[in-house]
Amino acid sequence: MSIRKGKNYLYGIHVEDMKEMCAESPIVKMPAPRKVYISMSQHIGAPAIPIVNVGDKVNKRQLIGQASGMISANVFSSVCGTVTAIEDIPTESGLKTKHVVIENDDRTDEIFFDNIENFEPQTIIERIRLAGIVGLGGAGFPTAVKLSPKTQLEYLIINGAECEPYLNCDYRLMIENTEDIYRGVKYAARALGIKKIIIGIEANKPKAIEAFSKYDDIEVVILKKQYPMGSEKHLIYCTTGRKVPVGKMPFDVGCCVQNIKTLIAIKHAIEDNKALSSTVLTVSGGGIKEPKNLRVQIGTPLEDIIEFCGGLVGETVKIISGGPMMGKGMINTTSYTRKTNSGYLFLTDKETCVKEPTNCINCAKCAKNCPMRLMPMYIESFALSGDFASAEKYGAMNCIECGSCAYNCPAKRSLVQSISLAKTKIKEMKQNGR
Ligand code: SF4
Ligand code: SF4
Repeated sequence: MSIRKGKNYLYGIHVEDMKEMCAESPIVKMPAPRKVYISMSQHIGAPAIPIVNVGDKVNKRQLIGQASGMISANVFSSVCGTVTAIEDIPTESGLKTKHVVIENDDRTDEIFFDNIENFEPQTIIERIRLAGIVGLGGAGFPTAVKLSPKTQLEYLIINGAECEPYLNCDYRLMIENTEDIYRGVKYAARALGIKKIIIGIEANKPKAIEAFSKYDDIEVVILKKQYPMGSEKHLIYCTTGRKVPVGKMPFDVGCCVQNIKTLIAIKHAIEDNKALSSTVLTVSGGGIKEPKNLRVQIGTPLEDIIEFCGGLVGETVKIISGGPMMGKGMINTTSYTRKTNSGYLFLTDKETCVKEPTNCINCAKCAKNCPMRLMPMYIESFALSGDFASAEKYGAMNCIECGSCAYNCPAKRSLVQSISLAKTKIKEMKQNGR
């Protein structure tokens, strides 16, 4: 057993964690819905290609979307039923993506992979690729690719920070499914050929710290409660002391960071021969009657989740997919669970601040709070005036979209949205060779 305190970093912010609404509620398995709407684009990279047709009968965990390249991921059915439509449906981002719609017929037939014959790194990575596993912390990057770096890495770091307010799914999994995470970690470490394994857990999760302290081969690093501790670059610094330089990736400093849910999916793919077909998320906020931590089938309509949680109460003024800091505001409740969902929040007037932005007063609070040491007020100003080249010079591409700048802005500027727009435009400029 090895436990130590992590390093602190300057900047960042302290936010109320608001986790108490369901932090001690065990994960409940929600019954499969009557219909699932499964997106072919639940990951970074090329969308999967549907390999079923309308009218086909499918079983649970049957491959329905084939990965279409190296940076892509397979997609599986989460229920038994009949394919009733294959259509473009808007996702939470507003962009339309192809969805396979399956009407559940309540059969219980499931498809499993064959047993793995050896546990060599390549066999493990191939199974992870086949099972459609992607970074389930939100990024959605194909895990098989992340576990295939070109150079030998030194550290595997488990991200147990869960620094976003309200969200509890990683916390619940850390105390309810500790052994599954441990098994997944061992396979990930074997795939990478790594011996040094660290789990970073924020100090406000003593039960999770205790749960992992029983393993001799995992070093537990207790992290200060600070936002955005769960960002890869900050987690790496606080657990290993290594700094990921601007424009570089964790593997450039010998580290690979893996999310809690991803590690459990790895365990299920390798030991239980199961493809990824469900996820765990937190439903919380003052606007939902019964906040819960849920295991739901991928493709479950948000309307069904709301009903399972007792419906809405009071006045919900904001619905967010994800946490309040990095999540995306939603315009309605038409949404379907994806692999990477971590939660849905229903926030009341008291819990949020829906105000029209006013002029920047140059107080520099946003710059003082930025964990990436950027000057968000300038980047925003360049973005709004369409000067994306200057936004790039001021480091827009280094923004991790953590929301710390906007959190304390007295003028309520939409800093993250503007910077995010600048990033998209800069990428477009580069693709067009400008
Ligand atoms: S915190 Fe808001 S008001 Fe202050 S400098 Fe930044 S953008 Fe301007
Ligand atoms: S500029 Fe980006 S990295 Fe800095 S605080 Fe704002 S969102 Fe976070």
